[in-house]
Amino acid sequence: MNKIIIRKPDNMHVHLREGPMLTKVIMFTSYVYSRAVIMGNLKNPVDTPEKAMLYKSEILRNAGHPGFIPLMTLMITKNTNRQTVKDAKKEGIVGFKFIPANTSTGSEDIGLNFFELFDCIDILKEIRDQNLMFLVHSELIRDRQGNIIPLIKREETSIKLIDLLVDKVPGLKITIEHITTRKYANYILGIKYPFIWATITAHHPYGTYDMVCDKDGIIKNPELYCLPIFKSEDDQQAIIKAMISGNLKFFCGEDTAPHYFWDKIKPPYRPGLFTAPVGLILITQIFEKYNALGNLENFTSRFGAEAHDLPLNQGKITLIKKKWTVPLSHEGINIFKGGETLHWQIAS
Ligand SMILES: [Zn+2]
Repeated sequence: MNKIIIRKPDNMHVHLREGPMLTKVIMFTSYVYSRAVIMGNLKNPVDTPEKAMLYKSEILRNAGHPGFIPLMTLMITKNTNRQTVKDAKKEGIVGFKFIPANTSTGSEDIGLNFFELFDCIDILKEIRDQNLMFLVHSELIRDRQGNIIPLIKREETSIKLIDLLVDKVPGLKITIEHITTRKYANYILGIKYPFIWATITAHHPYGTYDMVCDKDGIIKNPELYCLPIFKSEDDQQAIIKAMISGNLKFFCGEDTAPHYFWDKIKPPYRPGLFTAPVGLILITQIFEKYNALGNLENFTSRFGAEAHDLPLNQGKITLIKKKWTVPLSHEGINIFKGGETLHWQIAS
């Protein structure tokens, strides 16, 4: 096969940043995807509809490709209340994002930890009642006693809390973002709850824990540091299997998260990989490698839209089989897989 034509895809998890960085990266996303779910973990977290509307206009001003639709989300912070949720619905916000405090850029100051989420049940019920999505970065950083949980265990230890949440707020639509473990894939497959989905990124099928950390858990390759961190080969195989399965519970959330390379290599290391220039190609190559190209469009262009109750995109995108070498960097931001040869390109 030398050509693939699929419905225009949706990227249900993307970090476009702000200011000069945004202008350098946005075109990679707006060119490929019709819509993208925008993360609001900016320096000043996007946690009100007013901030989201300002951010949306910055995105649209710089998108470069007419027709690109940013699907805005609000961060759940200490400022969030039920009225915020009602106002968000009126402004067309698609969901609320929970990033545990101290996980990633922008979540430090006013974020909540996983246990504090259970003090916000009224807000979560409002999110459910407004038919908005609850997007979860599902990693537990400290246990109830305050002990730090090792990076590699954080995702799987959070599953029991999500299970509790499902009981507390039945009917809440939940997307578990960027799952990386066999345990989470099995949980999503096994739970008899129709309102839970998971996104899978473009980079997690391509990495394992030992590429980033040494045997003592110390980061040895900060350029590949992302959260959740890469896991074992067994976990990698499990998320690939989920990705290509054609199961509507799993859809595309590329999670491109750019940083300047000088920020990536100096401590404290910043999590996140810049995958936007290669994301759809990397995903396509996984489906091809495992003889599952027939399921590609469902993963990239259907299941995410259906989970969010959005109409399917009408346009098409064409990929052609043609080798190219990924540039090492773009305007000071190192590109994931830079220097490697990929064998698909986007033609139109
Ligand atoms: Zn992210």
